[in-house]
Amino acid sequence: MQYDLAILGSGLGGSVTALIAKQMGMNPVLIEKNSHPRFAIGESSTPQADIALASIAETYNLPRLQPLTRYGSWKETYPELNCGPKRGFTYIHHPNINDELLVAASPNGYDCDSQWYRADLDAFLVDEVKDFGIDYFENTTVELKEQDGWQLKAENFSCAANFLIDATGGANPLGISQDSLDARTNSRCIYSHFTGVTPWGELHGKKNHPYPCHDAALHHVFSGGWMYVLHFDNGISSAGFVLDCKQRPNDTWETLMDELPFIKEQFQNAKPTMPIVMAPRMQRCATQMVGDNWAMLPYAAAFLDPLHSAGNAQTLCGIERLMPILGKPAEERSELLREYQATTLHEVDVLDKIIHGCYKCFDDFTLLSSYAMLYFAGADFAERQRRSGKTVGFLTSGDSAFCALIDRFYNQVLAGALDVDALAKEITPWNLAGLCDPSKHYMYDYA
Ligand SMILES: Cc1cc2nc3c(=O)[nH]c(=O)nc-3n(C[C@H](O)[C@H](O)[C@H](O)COP(=O)(O)OP(=O)(O)OC[C@H]3O[C@@H](n4cnc5c(N)ncnc54)[C@H](O)[C@@H]3O)c2cc1C
Repeated sequence: MQYDLAILGSGLGGSVTALIAKQMGMNPVLIEKNSHPRFAIGESSTPQADIALASIAETYNLPRLQPLTRYGSWKETYPELNCGPKRGFTYIHHPNINDELLVAASPNGYDCDSQWYRADLDAFLVDEVKDFGIDYFENTTVELKEQDGWQLKAENFSCAANFLIDATGGANPLGISQDSLDARTNSRCIYSHFTGVTPWGELHGKKNHPYPCHDAALHHVFSGGWMYVLHFDNGISSAGFVLDCKQRPNDTWETLMDELPFIKEQFQNAKPTMPIVMAPRMQRCATQMVGDNWAMLPYAAAFLDPLHSAGNAQTLCGIERLMPILGKPAEERSELLREYQATTLHEVDVLDKIIHGCYKCFDDFTLLSSYAMLYFAGADFAERQRRSGKTVGFLTSGDSAFCALIDRFYNQVLAGALDVDALAKEITPWNLAGLCDPSKHYMYDYA
């Protein structure tokens, strides 16, 4: 069997890539090491992720993906696929939980983002792949050989392909060397799915919250780490502690629950639906993410930390940039692939400064609420530009003036001298959402 394109990994990235390839007139094959449905991490979508998915659906005539880009249309069209509402981003600072930052990312509970229950979403996407007549092999581990293109060999299957995409989420089947130590962020994660997690708003909801505070990526922030809590409509919640490896090398789920009484209260009736995973340091970055006849999706090449839920947006934006390159003549591709790599690594670098800077501010709610505005301004500005047909890159990372701003304030954070007034002033050209406004008291409604 000879294919134009072999894609390894059928997470959301691999399946969306396969569907696009088919619509571009290619003959792709999708190969998965495991099988669906299966648990996957990476569940909280963002406006940038949903805009990218909507754009992919439109550009490549994939109308069945369109309803997935809004919570309301998802529930109406695919009620059998579990998800949850995501109105925005909620940050609760411990131990003084009255220090709260809420940033709405949507106007209402219909037209909002979703928590993606990946077992269902990824299985749905693989079914779409099969319905499109794309060859799909699961429970299949291939050996790769580069010889006149790619030779792929598994126990009961072999094929050849002209181009290979690694969509394995960091499994690194090509054996590319990794350079994780370059990342400034240094964190690990303890996570699982649970039943019986009490929605935060039922315990500590307030009238001035711009949306139900738990219909969000709920971030509990504390010294040396944070916790995400995401609720699905099926009664399951996804939760994980993300910890600075240096500050908190030995903490476990139990020690953190004992230390953080308000989180313990939220989890008092919680039961894990699978064993709690204790992942080691998460940061990884491939030293090379493209060759003449292969490329990695962003999450296959690099990952930092789930703070602010940027992974799926970066994955989908990366797919949008990568796939048109495969439609170009072979002689033009190498240069374009190198640009794809440079852009992706630049995005990782920008995100690293934002995330690491936030970690450095975790002890001080005022500093954190100020510095995090770089993320929200970058995300919001990029979204607005896209809606008006322009592109400034993922998180506005294609705008050198905005990147210089991040550098400036990141260095201030490192020096322990973040000037919040200067940040509020200098962010103005990108601050179209009314962020850094003291009269909002950290409660940002959708603007
Ligand atoms: C703790 C944590 C929390 C996160 N939270 C968020 C979040 O809230 N929001 C967000 O946007 N992003 C989040 N992310 C990032 C998110 O997980 C990724 O952006 C997303 O999963 C990317 O999808 P993917 O399809 O590229 O990779 P994956 O979802 O990892 O899929 C990879 C697939 O490849 C398969 N595979 C592995 N090895 C092979 C092989 N050798 N051959 C064939 N198949 C193989 C796997 O079985 C899997 O099905 C999080 C990541 C982590 C680690």
